[in-house]
Amino acid sequence: MIKVIITGAKGRMGQALIACAEKIPGLEVVAEIDKGDSLAALIGKCDVVIDFSAREATVEVARLCAENKKALVIGTTGHTDTDTFEIKQNQTKIPIVWASNFSTGVNTLFWLTRKAAEILGPDFDLEVIEMHHRLKKDAPSGTAKSLAEILADVRKLHLNEVARHGRAGIVGERTPSEIGIHSIRGGDVVGDHTVIFANTGERVELTHKASSRDTFANGALRAAQWLVKQKPGLYDMQDVLGLK
Ligand code: NAD
Repeated sequence: MIKVIITGAKGRMGQALIACAEKIPGLEVVAEIDKGDSLAALIGKCDVVIDFSAREATVEVARLCAENKKALVIGTTGHTDTDTFEIKQNQTKIPIVWASNFSTGVNTLFWLTRKAAEILGPDFDLEVIEMHHRLKKDAPSGTAKSLAEILADVRKLHLNEVARHGRAGIVGERTPSEIGIHSIRGGDVVGDHTVIFANTGERVELTHKASSRDTFANGALRAAQWLVKQKPGLYDMQDVLGLK
């Protein structure tokens, strides 16, 4: 039996994880942690922690996992460069799956985005659009950032130098190297992402739409089952799905 602790248990994703975990034989949720609860007091009970709390909580969750030699699945997004640096320090001690999106469909979109960018070449303008529910705290979404990073990687560019977050005013003509990233917020949208490749005379659009959080929850639970058998290191969902 694989024993799991969920952090951020009272949240939208936490609730989806608890409901989906109940349907998986061989997996048991041994503690549900939210604000005010002590992970330190309970971490000894589990094999793996699944963290969908908040970006500012993940650094401490990762430190506790490393101290107690517990595997860690990270679902939170919106980390600062400092958070990212500190979280990554733990990869020498424990196995970590860190993914901006745990759905099989989005990981297929990551693969397709790389392929399309390679095939279409530098003449196509690149733009990423995402839409999420009105309560989402960070922007752009972690998934939109991952898509833009794939595009920048294929073009051999640094994303922070070419990312163009929205446009307003007299911004001038579009430069060939920029990668537009646009965040839309409203209603109860679980997560939509579109990558646009636009040239004169034609345009390709790749779109994924999530309609249930269960797709992320089941992906994260699958990652947890895979992760407990791995050596220390930093993995992503492409590793879990065998897409590399
Ligand atoms: P939410 O606000 O509904 O839930 C977050 C929960 O975490 C809340 O119950 C909050 O009280 C709790 N929390 C906050 N700080 C905490 C702490 N220090 N310790 C323990 N619990 C704490 O948010 P959500 O929609 O469930 O999303 C949670 C995170 O997961 C966000 O960062 C979101 O972007 C991310 N997310 C990732 C994926 C993915 O596939 N990787 C998918 C959906 C959401």
